[in-house]
Amino acid sequence: MTRKILSGHGSGGKLMNDMIETLIKGTLGPDSIQLDDSALLTIGAETIAFTTDTFTITPLFFPGGDIGSLAVNGTVNDLAVMGAEPMYLSCGVIIEEGLDMEVFEKILKSMKAAADRAGVKIVTGDTKVVQKGNADKIFINTSGVGRITGRVQRAPVREGDKILISGCIGDHGIAVMAERNSLTFTKGLQSDCMALNSMIAHVTEAYPGSIRFMRDPTRGGVASVLNEIVKGQPFSAKLYENDCPLREEVKGVCEILGIDPLYAANEGKVVMIVSAEDAEGIRDRMRETPEGKDAAIIGEITGEYPGKAYMETPVGGERILPLLLDEQLPRIC
Ligand code: MG
Repeated sequence: MTRKILSGHGSGGKLMNDMIETLIKGTLGPDSIQLDDSALLTIGAETIAFTTDTFTITPLFFPGGDIGSLAVNGTVNDLAVMGAEPMYLSCGVIIEEGLDMEVFEKILKSMKAAADRAGVKIVTGDTKVVQKGNADKIFINTSGVGRITGRVQRAPVREGDKILISGCIGDHGIAVMAERNSLTFTKGLQSDCMALNSMIAHVTEAYPGSIRFMRDPTRGGVASVLNEIVKGQPFSAKLYENDCPLREEVKGVCEILGIDPLYAANEGKVVMIVSAEDAEGIRDRMRETPEGKDAAIIGEITGEYPGKAYMETPVGGERILPLLLDEQLPRIC
């Protein structure tokens, strides 16, 4: 049987992970792709972080952002979560013939504003136009490089470590889904699309050695990031349901559409695994910034169900948070 690419191969779930491990790494070589938010490269005496991401979100404009701001912030955040200082971005666009020039201009202005806010420069790019029907309006790829000046924010995770999140869960994914489904009662619900580099630097300045791991829970959400952290490890990630910050509007849309907010994309949040003794200090430090004002300790690393992420409910029940096979929200970023 001829094998075909399915939408789930781009989901951040199990199908995608299997394809990366077997087909992509199998073909490009085991030392080719560094499976982290950015690759770390040594050039002369310097270590730089290098990353790339492609954005196909629909609709192009959504409450709280657009494909342009998303393409800048997403790549900035993939550098920042390694402990890098984001510096330069590239921007490649694939445009469908017939797109309004004003739409492209609006997206470019949004990219420029987002880059200025994050303190990065867009220094190179590429433009391709394909015939009508051969793409959907516009797709954007951004690559980014950043300098590692301090510690790479990666260290072995241990039992007893705490799990933090910098704010409310699922805002981006749910705002986009509400927009797509014309749910008019969700006025005020916005994507959290924003750059996190200055908030992360604010934390690492004060706690340079306390973060074991951090990742922006974009496609696949918080549950997928936790699964990536515990996969094949002798420990598990336990969340406390009542401590997970969630907006009422997000909860409402999730109930109507049957979506679990723990799997919904975030575009302005970071999940951190930190040492237990510094967890409260780091949370309070995050809360000093506008990006991290709703930061919370949401769980801990335990030894109970090795390799699994799970939720402890307020009544003492437990629910496993599996790595999803397929995408529940396609073209969300
Ligand atoms: Mg990322």
